[in-house]
Amino acid sequence: MTTYKGSCFCGAVEIETQGAPEGMGYCHCSSCRTWSAAPVNAFTLWKPHNVRVTRGAEFIGRFAKSELSHRQYCTSCGGHLMTDHPPLGLIDVYAATLPELKFTPGVHVNYSETVLPMKDGLPKLKDFPAEFGGSGVAVPE
Ligand SMILES: [Zn+2]
Ligand SMILES: [Zn+2]
Repeated sequence: MTTYKGSCFCGAVEIETQGAPEGMGYCHCSSCRTWSAAPVNAFTLWKPHNVRVTRGAEFIGRFAKSELSHRQYCTSCGGHLMTDHPPLGLIDVYAATLPELKFTPGVHVNYSETVLPMKDGLPKLKDFPAEFGGSGVAVPE
């Protein structure tokens, strides 16, 4: 089984994922933007049993503005690690946290909120896919 290793900015926290992600893409929502201080969030989604903290679990801080997203970061360096989405049964390990994983995005979500239009030919959803409780409605690039 393929293993991908990642760490926070300072290296105190190390994580590992196993197998393949359930999906990859970009989120343009304002929550992702203000949390990441970036115009988009590149996400990779994993089943929780495929994500392990291998070092520095005591340094992991958590913040949940809503039940949907339990955000995790390193309390030593402030670097972001992942967001647990309990209602979806998935964890978003930020693509940048897993440098060995080849990022192959398949979809843009919350594109109606974009501040950085990306004309890459991939599907653009107004909010979330229907199976994640969204409208599933596609919008133009
Ligand atoms: Zn750190
Ligand atoms: Zn988002």
